[in-house]
Formats: sequence, structure tokens, C-alpha cells
Amino acid sequence: MFTVGLLAAIVCGLGCLVIVFVWLRDRSTAAYAWWIIAFLLYGLGVLIAAQRYRLPLLSNIGTPGFATLLGFGAFWSGLRILDRRPTTLLALTPAMIWAFGLPFVHDAFALRQINYNVAIGTGTFLVGFDLWRSSVKEFSPRLGIAIICLSETVVSYSQAIALVVMRNDVGDGPLQGWFTFAPFQSAVAMVAIVVLGILMIGERTQHRFRDLAMKDELTGIFNRRGFFETSTNALRRTNRKTGETAMALFDIDFFKSINDTYGHPAGDRVIAEFAQRAARAIRPGDILGRIGGEEFALLLPGTTLSDARKVVERVRAAFADTPIVDGHNRILATTSAGISTVANQEVDLNSLVSSADEALLAAKKAGRNRTSILRPIDVSGSFPQ
Ligand code: GH3
Ligand code: MG
Ligand code: MG
Repeated sequence: MFTVGLLAAIVCGLGCLVIVFVWLRDRSTAAYAWWIIAFLLYGLGVLIAAQRYRLPLLSNIGTPGFATLLGFGAFWSGLRILDRRPTTLLALTPAMIWAFGLPFVHDAFALRQINYNVAIGTGTFLVGFDLWRSSVKEFSPRLGIAIICLSETVVSYSQAIALVVMRNDVGDGPLQGWFTFAPFQSAVAMVAIVVLGILMIGERTQHRFRDLAMKDELTGIFNRRGFFETSTNALRRTNRKTGETAMALFDIDFFKSINDTYGHPAGDRVIAEFAQRAARAIRPGDILGRIGGEEFALLLPGTTLSDARKVVERVRAAFADTPIVDGHNRILATTSAGISTVANQEVDLNSLVSSADEALLAAKKAGRNRTSILRPIDVSGSFPQ
């Protein structure tokens, strides 16, 4: 037991050091601070438990159980913050179960173990379920932690049940034989969770860089690369279904003269305002990106021509109907739009963009501030797949 406890304490110490290091470099994420608290509490609990004969008072009032279970709650809170989700009071559940159970289990080691198992088993179930629900079901550190937590639940509850059934055989002293397996297994699980937690931090940093590479700085929507990558992924999901997909291109009208009249910063303001108004007018699932200076693309997966037209008209009107306020100036700007559609199964992103571009050109020629449509075309002919 002592060696297992020591192993767990060493792992906590190392995990804590790594996370302190990560946190020192990036203090913007409160999740790391929660994890540092979690490791400190967990390590403290394990150390006091290992010294139970030297510190009987601290052990008797349940401090080790309290510290490790609060630490577990802090670990969960950190996970949720890493996901940009609010923390939950449910994180206190394991420590509360332990506290409420303590007066009834005071006298016998086996009873205390049952109480602890129910507390940690419930905690690992809550975390495992929470992570399982929020993870895409492909292998990731998050799914790994979910699986480890759920197997901890099974082990903890099984041991609690076994202890209840064999209550008379195990007596009141320290547990013997295979009953010591559970703490050993928890220590191993702890090592795995620390490693996976660190991998999760790495994954998050990668996502952050990816986000930066995909977003347009001025408008906050996708840039060209982000738009095409996200659209390609979305089309992979729709092109097995029947129905149509639509693409719209927007180009702000007479933008050169807006720049010339009001200055380049005012032009930037107009571009940003278009993105903001368009983002409000589209539906969840539509993909909007700035693909050129004052040019925007909107992919509407699984959308018929008439629905696409409604969305695009909404965007066009939202931009043209209200002047943009820039200092003392009120700038009235308009946009032209071109729409093309194609059957889901035949979608090729490049040809869809080319035909939307043709439609856009037609809208410009027809006088601007309008939407023009290119009827579905046979994509197999003129464009390379
Ligand atoms: P049209 O109605 O035919 O679209 O006329 P236009 O004046 O908008 O013509 P065009 O689309 O060719 O003009 C694009 C202009 O946008 C040229 C460039 O100076 C300006 N521009 C490109 N990127 C930016 C930017 O990030 N900020 C600002 N302020 N202007 C930009
Ligand atoms: Mg242009
Ligand atoms: Mg233009």
C-alpha cells in the first residue's frame, strides 16, 4: 500500500511540475490552475494516507479521502474549462458522499473503503460520462480518460459490493489480499490520466494554432484556407445524401471608391461589418469565409436553390439597408451576390465556386446590389475534378 501510495504521489508531483511549467508559459487558461490544485490535493491526500500511523488524527477525520476527492473534483473542473464549458457543483459530489458517509463508517477500515469506493466510483462515472458524451467517438486523449474513468467506476463499485457481501470475513483491520488491488489499480489509472491530460494540453495547443491559421484577423470569420478546408469536410458528410448544395459568392460594390472617399481604415470597417451582419443572417451549418479583399463565400450544404436564395437575399438586405457608422461618416454600401447549386452527390467545390463566380459577374453586369443565379450545371465536363 505504501509503495502504491508513493508511486501515486510521485506521479502527482511530476504531473504537477509539467503543468506548472505549461501554465507559466500560458497563463490564459484557468484549466491549468485547476489541474495544479487537483494534483496538489491528490498528492496531499495520498501522502497523509501513507502516514496514517504517524498522523492518526488527520486520518481519522477523513482528511486523505477529502483531499483526494476534492482533487478529483478540481481535475474535472479543469477539464470542463479546457472545453470552454462552465464548472459544475456536481464536481463536489465525491467529496460530499465521503463527508456524509464518514460518521457511519468511522470504526472499520472496510466500511471506510466502501464509502470511499462509492464516492470515487460516482465521481469517475460522472467524469467518464461527461467526457464520453462530449467526445467525437474516435481515439483521442479525451476518450482515453473517459474509458479509464468508467473502468474505475466498475472496479470501485465491484469492490464496494464485494466488501458489503464479505463484511463479516474481512473484519475491521486493514484490507488484505486482492482487496488491495483497487488502490493499486487507481494509482495506475492516475498515471494514465496524467499522461493523457498532458496529451490533451498538446492537442489543445495544436487546435489553437489551427484556428489561428484558419481565421481571418479582420473579420473573425474563416479565411480562404479555413473556408475551403471546412467546406471540404462538410461536403464529405453531405455528399452521401440526396438533395442539393448551394454556394454563394459576395463582392462588395464599388469598394475602391469607398476606400478612396473614406480612407482604407473605413474600408476595413465596412468589410468587418459585412462579415458581422452576414454571420447573423445565415443558419447554423452554413459556412462563411472571407476569400479575398472584399469577397466572401458562403456554402449552404444540403440546401435547395429557393432556400439558398432566401438566405442570400437576407444577407444582401442586412448589408444594404442600414448604413455603416464610422466616426462621423455614415457609409451606405451594397453587395452583389451569385448563387450556384448542384446535386449533393455531384458536388465539386472548385466547380461550384466557378459557377457562383459566373453568377456574381452577371449580378455586377446587371447593375449590382442584386443576387443572380446560375442554374445547376453538369460538372463532369469543363472542370477538373
Ligand atoms: P465592383 O463593384 O466591380 O466590385 O467594384 P470594386 O471597386 O469593388 O472593384 P474591386 O472588387 O476590383 O475592388 C476591390 C478593392 O478592394 C481593391 C482593393 O484596393 C480593395 N481592398 C482589398 N483588400 C482590402 C482590405 O483588406 N481593406 C481595404 N480597405 N481595401 C481592400
Ligand atoms: Mg472584388
Ligand atoms: Mg468589389
